[in-house]
Amino acid sequence: MNILILNVGSSSVKYEVFENDISIIKGLIERITGKKGFSKAILKITSILREKRISIDAIGHRVVHGGAIGKTSRITPSLIKIIEQVTDLAPLHNTPELHTIRECMKIFSIPQFAVFDTAFHSSMPDKAFTYALPHGLSAKFRIKRYGFHGTSHEYVVQEACKKLRKDIKKQRIISCHLGNGCSITAIKNGRSIDTSMGFTPLEGLVMGTRCGDIDPGIITYLMRKGFSTEKLDSILNHQSGLLGISGVSNDFRDVLKSKDPRAKLAIDVFVYRLIKYIGAYHAVLGGTDILIFTGGIGENSPKITKLIFNQVRHLKIKNKIVIKTDEAKMMARKIMNLL
Ligand code: ADP
Repeated sequence: MNILILNVGSSSVKYEVFENDISIIKGLIERITGKKGFSKAILKITSILREKRISIDAIGHRVVHGGAIGKTSRITPSLIKIIEQVTDLAPLHNTPELHTIRECMKIFSIPQFAVFDTAFHSSMPDKAFTYALPHGLSAKFRIKRYGFHGTSHEYVVQEACKKLRKDIKKQRIISCHLGNGCSITAIKNGRSIDTSMGFTPLEGLVMGTRCGDIDPGIITYLMRKGFSTEKLDSILNHQSGLLGISGVSNDFRDVLKSKDPRAKLAIDVFVYRLIKYIGAYHAVLGGTDILIFTGGIGENSPKITKLIFNQVRHLKIKNKIVIKTDEAKMMARKIMNLL
C-alpha cells in the first residue's frame, strides 16, 4: 500500500511516499506564493509520481492545529469545516494546509486523512492544559495548552521503546524535540501528560527565533510603551530565542561556534531552560525511565546532549537515547493502521 504524505509550510510543500514502512520517493517544492502556487505544486507532485509510475492509495495531510480533534481523521466536508473553525488559532499554518486539502479533495478520489500536530497531546489532564485565567475567558476564546510537535514526540517514543525493548505502557519518558522549534513532553504509559508548547508554539523552551517562556507582563509593558500587536508578534516569534540573545544567528551551529560572549549566554540560557523542564517533568512523572533527544540539535550535537545528560545525572535516569525523528513515517503508520 502506498501513502502520499504532504507537509505544507507557509511557502513550501514537502512530499514523501511510503510503501508500507519504507520511503520510496521524497521531495520539496519551495518558494511558493499565493493559493495558485500551492495548486501548481500539487499538480507538479502528481506529474512526478505519474512519471515514476508510482500509484498512491491514500493521502496524509499534516495539519498543525486540530483544536479539539484528538486523532488522525478521515477528511470529509464536515472535518474541513471543523479545521476551518480552528484556523484563527494558527492562521499561518492552517490556511495553506486547508487550501491544499481542498485542492487534493478535488483532484483525487482516494481516502485522505488529516494528521494533527496537536493530537498526541489531547491526552493531557485538565490540570496540565488549563491556564490560570478567568474560566469564562478561556472558554470563550478556546484558550488552553494544545501543544505541538505531537507526531514527532509520538514517533521517537515508539522507536525508543522498540530499540530498548521496553513496554511503552510501563515507561515514564521525557522527550526533547530540539530543532528550529523546540519542545519537551512528559509521557506516561504511552500518553502525553504535559508538554512545553502551549496555546501557540511560542511557549516553553528557548528556540531558534522564538522566546519560549517569558513573563506575560513584559508584553503589556511593551504595549504601553507603544509596541503594536504586529511588532510584538514579530519580536516574540522571529527576533528572539538564540538569535535574539546572541545577535549572531538562529542556527545552533553558528551560535555554538561563535566566540561572542552573548552567543555563550544564548547557549547557557537554552541549556538552563531545558534542564529546568527536565527537572519539572521528572517530578510530575514521579521519576524517569527514558530521556530522549531528537530534532536537528538533539540528533546532531553530541556536545549538547552530553552536557545535558551530565547535568541531570543525579536524576539517575536509566536510559538516555538519541532518536532521529521521522514525522512523515509516523503519519504514514497512523494512516495504514486506519486503513
Ligand atoms: P526544523 O525544526 O526546522 O525541522 P531541524 O530539526 O532540522 O529544524 O533543526 C535545525 C537546528 O538543528 C538548527 O538550529 C541547526 O543549527 C541544528 N543543527 C543541525 N546540525 C547540527 C549539528 N551538527 N550540531 C548542532 N546543531 C545542529
